Order: sequence, then structure tokens, then C-alpha cells
Amino acid sequence: MALDSKAIISRFQDYLRINTVQPNPDYYAAANFIKLQAQSISLQYQPIEFVQGKPIVLLKWAGSEPSLPAILLNSHVDVVPFEAEKWDHPPLGAEIDEDGRIYARGTQDMKSVGMQYLEAIRKLVASGYKPLRSVYVTFVPDEEIGGADGVGRFVESEIFKSLSIAVVLDEGLPSPTESYRVFNGERIPWSLQIKAVGQPGHGSKLYDDSASENLTKSIEISVNMVFLKAGTPSPDGFVMNLQPSEAEAGFDIRIPPTADLVALEKRLVEEWAPVARNMSYKLWRFDQNLSGKQLLTGNDNSNPWWVLLQNAVNEAGGKTSEPEIFPASTDSRYFRKAGLPAFGFSPISNTPSLLHDHNEYLSQAEYLKGIDMYVSIIKAFTSYSSP
Ligand SMILES: [Zn+2]
Repeated sequence: MALDSKAIISRFQDYLRINTVQPNPDYYAAANFIKLQAQSISLQYQPIEFVQGKPIVLLKWAGSEPSLPAILLNSHVDVVPFEAEKWDHPPLGAEIDEDGRIYARGTQDMKSVGMQYLEAIRKLVASGYKPLRSVYVTFVPDEEIGGADGVGRFVESEIFKSLSIAVVLDEGLPSPTESYRVFNGERIPWSLQIKAVGQPGHGSKLYDDSASENLTKSIEISVNMVFLKAGTPSPDGFVMNLQPSEAEAGFDIRIPPTADLVALEKRLVEEWAPVARNMSYKLWRFDQNLSGKQLLTGNDNSNPWWVLLQNAVNEAGGKTSEPEIFPASTDSRYFRKAGLPAFGFSPISNTPSLLHDHNEYLSQAEYLKGIDMYVSIIKAFTSYSSP
């Protein structure tokens, strides 16, 4: 491996070894590390602390045309916990095996991406490239616990508004094939509660349409049940010889922004909570603030950033798949809610998705190739001169 590749990998390993594991991530150690990286490539460094102990690191590579809106490259610093005994390598060790795979929490989600942004900029700076648009790189806290104190606070701030951002890149998912996955929206958590009522009766009677029976018919649907509630409490548990007059269940359901809500409610009324079985339901968005906003980023030719992204990846020898809806929540939703186009894109192909799993790894070759993708993307985005 070439000397500069070795240095690139070793910087990635250094970042992986910083303990940013929830629930006690060492954000200051990470911020110090990023500060040193930024200094070595002459990026402006600004730590912002909306919440004590949870710095957001904002880096800037100034463009030559400050009137053009800027590019934002976002990554979260925190990672999810691990069960070290179920790993074949220490989860904070960043060991490399004989196949060139780097093992550590964050190799996929998403310390890789944060460092790849910086390595791509390092290469562009070294080549003498001068961007028209400014590039901001953010390293944010708390994505893994919802992001409210991270990007949630950031997008609401005057600092953020002053940056004048045109487009955001954030995390995606690894692809098992050679095509990179791109995400232009994400499923939105909704809460569903269904309730059945029925005649109470003595526990010895067998009759139709009891509340419990009516509810049971609905809970075999294939979504995540988060609670189940029925019964008449007694001092030491439940009254055992009485059929309850009410039974309730709650579900966490994830609905893509493209879903037809009218059709969904129709199914709810007809199949999951039919009046004929004495049932009713309540359906609401888990995050009420998300309603009524444009939550999908354009993925056709009318969005120049999408066209630029695809072309840039192609030019670097990669391929993108058709944009998808991310199955869970990421920080991208805050940017989209703020009205910005945001793409979820982690340049990881030919790799199983091991986010939050044991033995999370990324191969050195895939990591290095991803840097070349960002070199191409950052070049394309920052040289795009239409306002
Ligand atoms: Zn992530």
C-alpha cells in the first residue's frame, strides 16, 4: 500500500479509537482530534456548544464566490454501544485483518464518512483545486439518540441560517452490490393505538365479541407492537374471573413520506380497527413538528444536485442506485424540514450492512475508493456556478 494510503488509514484508525460510544461519548476528545485534522488542511474550525458537553464542530473551506450558497457535509460523531465479547476484534481497536478489513464501531456508521470528507478535501487542497462555493463540514453529537441536541438545535440557530446552505450530504447505508445506495427521504415514525371495547363478563362465560377477543384479531398485523393493555387490576395483580370491557394495543409504525395516508386510514378502519368489532383507533406522528413540510428531496432532473451527484460518482468509477426511502430516522430529516435538499449517501459498496451489529467493519480498499467518490462529488458541487 502506498505511503499516503497508509497515512489515510492510520488517521481513520485514530478517529475510530476515540470512545464516542453512547451513552457517554467523549465529544471533546473527538473535537480535539477533528481540530488537528482541520488545522493540517487549513480549514477554519469553530466549535459550537448549544448544549453543555455536546459540541458541534463546524469546519469551513472558503470558496472564491461567497455569494453562491454553500455545500454542507454532515456526519455524527457518536456511535451505538457494543457487546465486546461477541466481537472477534476489539470494537474500539480498529484492527485490520488479513483481508484488509478494519474492525470497529463506527467503520460504517459513520466515522468513515466524516473522515472521508476530510481526506477528500485534503486531496483537493493538495492538488491546488479552488472551490467556487464554500464547503462546510459538520461533526455533530447525539444522532444515535435522536439528534435533538445536535442537528435539531443547529438547524434552528442563527449561525446555521447565516451559512446559506444549498445542499446537504449525510449518512446512507452500505450496499451489498457494486452500486452505491442513495436516500432522498426517510420513513417517519407514527404512533398507532387501537382499542376494543366489549361487554364485561364473568370469566367462566364463553361469548363472542369480548374486548380481548376483538383486539386479538387485530394484533397479528406485521408491525411492531409496543404495548398491550387489558384486565382489571387487583391488589396483587389482576382480577382473574372477569373478562375486561376494554383492551388496547400500541404500535410503532414507520411510514414513508410517499405513502398514501388516505389508503392507510382506510385499511385501519376496515381491517385493524373495524367498528363492527367495537374498535377505535388513534394515529399520530411521533414527532408532531414534522407535519406539513416537504420531507422528500427531489430525485429527478429538476434537482441539479441529484444530477451532479450521479455524474460525479460515475466519473469516479462508481454507480448509484435509484434513490430510496431510508428505513429509519437520521439527521437528514432536520435538514429537509428546514427546507434543504439532503441526500443520504455513504460510499460503501460490496459490503454487508453491519450498522449497530457485531463485527462492524469496512475494508481499506472500500474506504479509499469512497474518498475518491467524495473528491469527485465535492469538485462537482463546488464548481457548480448556477445560483
Ligand atoms: Zn448513523
